[in-house]
Amino acid sequence: MPPFVYEEEIIMIQDCIFCKIAVGLIPCTKVYEDDDVLAFLDIGQATTGHTLVISKKHYPNFLATPKSIMHKVYDVAQKIGQAQIQTLGARGVNVLSNCYKEAGQSIPHFHVHVIPRYEPADGFRIEMYENVHIGELNLPVLASKISKGIKE
Ligand code: AMP
Ligand code: ZN
Repeated sequence: MPPFVYEEEIIMIQDCIFCKIAVGLIPCTKVYEDDDVLAFLDIGQATTGHTLVISKKHYPNFLATPKSIMHKVYDVAQKIGQAQIQTLGARGVNVLSNCYKEAGQSIPHFHVHVIPRYEPADGFRIEMYENVHIGELNLPVLASKISKGIKE
């Protein structure tokens, strides 16, 4: 089964730290909660106010989350980013969701990082180096490959 097939029936994974936070078995510093979504401060503050937005139900990551829940999580992430700018004096926000360990995901339960950014330099960095020389790629073929993989 491909990993992006939704596992709708899974509500809680016993060893999952974010499932435990979602049901109150592990404490968190709560920022927001509704029936489907919980947001709390990341225990490792990349910058002041770094917040995690999670689905209450267990899905492995963004790619493997049903659309309706994924939209609800990002809706809350947007509101939190706006609030960080309004209340913390942030000048910008990075929104990111790591999918699978190869992409740096350490907790396999869907979550979105909302990281407020400050001036002067706040020490947080996302650097996108040009790792692959564009001359080595056939861009139209590459685009067409991805395009053909897009599902309805
Ligand atoms: P990722 O590496 O993208 O999977 O992000 C997981 C995040 O969860 C990291 O930034 C951790 O600092 C954070 N984290 C781990 N345990 C806790 C916890 N108990 N409460 C809050 N944040 C946590
Ligand atoms: Zn979980």
